[in-house]
Amino acid sequence: MLNAFKHPILPGQIGGHEGVGRIVTIGPPTTSTFSTPSTLKIGDRVGIKWQWSICGTCPPCLEGRDGLCFEGRASGTYMPGTFQQYVLGPANYVTPIPEGLDDVSAAPLMCAGLTVYAALRKANARAGEWVVVLGAG
Ligand SMILES: [Zn+2]
Repeated sequence: MLNAFKHPILPGQIGGHEGVGRIVTIGPPTTSTFSTPSTLKIGDRVGIKWQWSICGTCPPCLEGRDGLCFEGRASGTYMPGTFQQYVLGPANYVTPIPEGLDDVSAAPLMCAGLTVYAALRKANARAGEWVVVLGAG
């Protein structure tokens, strides 16, 4: 079992886990069991999250709890993070970013935004209900 929180940081890492940019090249298809046909193309805007990749087949993944994936790989600890000019990301797990959303607004969604979203989802919060978010700035 690979888990970013149970293993030491691999040598040669670079920090950063809220990256937004444009695809400059696309590599060969993955052989992962989680591979799905990608509609991504060069020039598309995408984001890279704290959770760099997931297996898509373990119990947490099948329950939609990506952050607990048994084989999850974290940006900056298992894979070099987003404080680079060019960053590698798995085509099946980068996040498409709409053109109308600027980088400064989109980047925090790759970590803090997902954390809040996950909490709201777990709470089954519905439109029109009130929630309290601690630590949001
Ligand atoms: Zn998994």
